[in-house]
Formats: sequence, C-alpha cells, structure tokens
Amino acid sequence: MNILDTGVKNVRNVVHFTMGNGALNELSSLIDKRRYLTSGPAIFFVDSYFNENNIYLKKLNLRKEDRIIFIDAANEPSTDAIDSILLDLRSSLDKDPCAVVGMGGGTTMDTAKAVSNLLTNPGQAEDYQGWDLVKKQGVYKIAIPTLSGTGAEATRTCVMTNKRTGLKLGMNSDFTVYDQIIMDHSLTATVPRDQYFFTGMDAYIHCVEALSGSYRNAIGDAFSRETLNLCRQVFFDRDMMSDENREKLMVASYLGGCSIATSYVGLVHPFSAGLSVVLGLHHCIANCIVMRAMKPFYPSAFSEFWDMAGIQGVTIPEGLCRNLKSEDYERLYEATIIHQKPLTNALGVNYRDFLTREKVIEIFKSM
Ligand code: ZN
Repeated sequence: MNILDTGVKNVRNVVHFTMGNGALNELSSLIDKRRYLTSGPAIFFVDSYFNENNIYLKKLNLRKEDRIIFIDAANEPSTDAIDSILLDLRSSLDKDPCAVVGMGGGTTMDTAKAVSNLLTNPGQAEDYQGWDLVKKQGVYKIAIPTLSGTGAEATRTCVMTNKRTGLKLGMNSDFTVYDQIIMDHSLTATVPRDQYFFTGMDAYIHCVEALSGSYRNAIGDAFSRETLNLCRQVFFDRDMMSDENREKLMVASYLGGCSIATSYVGLVHPFSAGLSVVLGLHHCIANCIVMRAMKPFYPSAFSEFWDMAGIQGVTIPEGLCRNLKSEDYERLYEATIIHQKPLTNALGVNYRDFLTREKVIEIFKSM
C-alpha cells in the first residue's frame, strides 16, 4: 500500500458551524443542550490573553461546577503538558464532562481536542501520536477560534511535540474533529498585526503544499484553491485587518483546515517542525522563516509570499540557522526527516535520496 493511502480518503468534517460578528453569544445555548444529556461540567480551555478580558469571559456563562483552564500560547502543546492537565482532570472529576470548549488559537484549540479524546480513551498523549490510533469518540467539543490560519478548528489532528522523542505529530483521527465551531470574527480584531500575518500565512502555506503534492483529490483541491483565493484578497489589500478581511481570513482558515484534512502538507511543514522542536519557534512564524528557502520548490508561491509580506510591511526573521552547533544541525535534520508522509507527498517515496543530511542542513542555513 502506498504510504499516503490512509484514512483521509473517507473524510469527516466538522459537524456544525455558526458564524458572524457576535456568534459567540450562541455558545451558552449550545452547551445547555449538552447539559440536558450529561450532568457533568463543561471544561473551557481559554487562551490566557482572555484572562484579562472580562467581557469575553462573561460571555462564556460559566456555572460553578465548570472548569476554566487558561492556556499560555507561548508554549505550543507538548505531550507532557497534555498529560499533566489530564492527570488533574482524571483525578478530580467525579462525572463525565458534558462538553470541552477550546477558545483561542491553534495551541488552545489543539489542547482542547487532545484532552477531549484522552478523557474517553485510556493512556497518555504519546500513545496516540500517529494515524487513527484513537478508538473511541472523545467528549463533545466546541472550537472558538480567536486567531485565523492554522485551521485547527477544522482538522482531524492536534499537533503535539513529544520532547522525549523529538516527535512533533498529532492525533490524526476522525474523533479529533470538532463537533461544533463558532466563527466570530469580532474576536480577531485585537490580534497584533504581525501575528495576524504569520498565522494567516499558515492557511496559505497549507494549500500551496497540498496543491503541489502528489496526493491530490478533487475536494481537497477545491478547498485549497478557495483558501488561496481568500488569502490573496486579504493580504494584497492595504487593510488586511478590516472587518471584511478578518471574516474572509476566518473562512480561509476553516477551508484550509478542511483542505489539509483530506490531503497532506509538503516541504515547508517538516522544516518548520524542525525549527519548532530545536529552536522553540512558533509554528506560524517558523513556516514564514522556512519560506526564505522555498524558491526552488514552490517558485510562484515564493514570490507571492514575499510580495504579500512586503505590502503588509511584515519582517520575517533571517539567519537563525547560520551559526549553530553541529549537534543542533543533527537535531534539525532528525526533526525534519522524520515527517515521512509530507515529504513523500512533496518529493516521492525516495525523498531521502534528495534530502540528504547535507542538503537538509544547507536548506536550514539558507533561511
Ligand atoms: Zn501549519
């Protein structure tokens, strides 16, 4: 069997979504429907940015039995962090939760997905890093993206870094997909401009990689083309953060997630994972840094990407991999080459013939 022939051929999308300015107001009635079915608490994972932001917290309408766990997005999800949240919840909950809510960017939404799955499946986070290892439906889950681009609200994975093995890989499973998403673009009005650009570019890059890969299908291609179309409208516009553009980018993020749920990324993400694992860089800025070296592989996206960065006046860091120790280059190589599926999608099954240790290091040095 071809390595790319996996469960993504039979695709599960998010079951329900609601959208528009003010859509967050629908959250409590959606959770109330779950409370009729299960008497346990709702568990809210909320980006720590909202800890200071009372207006939004009030809209969550927390009951006294509910839990709120603030997630510091400075640290992307690790298997250890997920396990420690889980240990606490497993030992302190006396009833099954009625819902898990993830309100924030990719880090928060992915944390909520992982915890939801592990609340109904035994073991630890690392036991499920891979494809279709989750056996039971997780707790009913709702996503409320407050950043646009990663598509975590739509995908069938939740990316986690395993610091012990160096593996950055999620729980790819139908059970990882959210049951409900609330897309309220009023929530992205206060995102810092640079972060808005870096995160938005994740959607753009996912679809560039998917459309250039060997594993293609008509639905994935259609999702990808419309995502790129919306990203171009947003990032070639002078005011990328207008109300209309924030709504478009939220849709692009969702469609980009749907695209990647039926296909695979390519070269950018494995290199980006190397930067995250070894240098601790955030996923979205790491992708943008990798774009510095992508001219030979994705020439038209390369020039379009730099045009958009120029129009938006966003600076992408440079030269971060030029003077590292030899053991760091070794770790960068290992953390990149491990991503068998995306690299096969981009370069074919013999990708190691081209991506030798020297070649991988040369690409890192050119960023
Ligand atoms: Zn990504």
